[in-house]
Amino acid sequence: MRLVLVGSPGSGKGTQGDTLRQVLHVPHISSGDLLRVAVADGTPLGVEAKGFMDAGRLVPDDLVLGMIRERVALEDCAPGFLLDGFPRTLEQAEKLDEMLEGVGAGLDHVVALDVPEDEIVGRLSGRRLCTQCGRLFHVTFSPPVDPEHCDDCGGEIVVRDDDQEETVRERLRVYAEQTEPLLEYYAERGLLRRIDGTGSPESVGERVLEAVRG
Ligand code: AMP
Repeated sequence: MRLVLVGSPGSGKGTQGDTLRQVLHVPHISSGDLLRVAVADGTPLGVEAKGFMDAGRLVPDDLVLGMIRERVALEDCAPGFLLDGFPRTLEQAEKLDEMLEGVGAGLDHVVALDVPEDEIVGRLSGRRLCTQCGRLFHVTFSPPVDPEHCDDCGGEIVVRDDDQEETVRERLRVYAEQTEPLLEYYAERGLLRRIDGTGSPESVGERVLEAVRG
């Protein structure tokens, strides 16, 4: 199954992506995670991407497209994949269609997680990240035992650079302007499944699975 997850920052794409990966046995490909690894490793892609990410802006399409093209071509994507955070612009969506047409394997569903903006701001401002293993916590919903260290690996817990309040506002603006038009693009193609993204991660997960298993 070939799926795309769309939703504003903080809508739960990462959490739902993880569940879908386990249930559907397809790789969960998060463009944000791939970019963060590239930044941490100091690769040429990471060096170019970092400034855009820290400012809450989108990384230029050519960089992201090259990264996704390479990832989707790997063997483990043959049975399907779940894209999270990509595509994020109409141009990326068109390029993805071309990529998939080339191998004769179109998308099955595009799942959009709908969460009201007030709730998004609350979720993102409480989000914390382990600098060592990448585990996400939330000060209210899933707090670490020790507020400064990761439960799993003991690494330092920080606010992600782009979860700072100013940057969050910019990311939400960029989402509304550049990514929301994708909903119509995929609705016209009969691929869009809109899901209520509020409530517990488990209940959202059930709705998502119901929609994609249809
Ligand atoms: P995320 O973890 O999905 O919120 O992504 C974090 C940041 O990575 C975004 O704010 C962008 O700067 C960058 N990014 C992730 N995916 C894309 C994409 N498809 N196109 C452009 N930039 C992206």
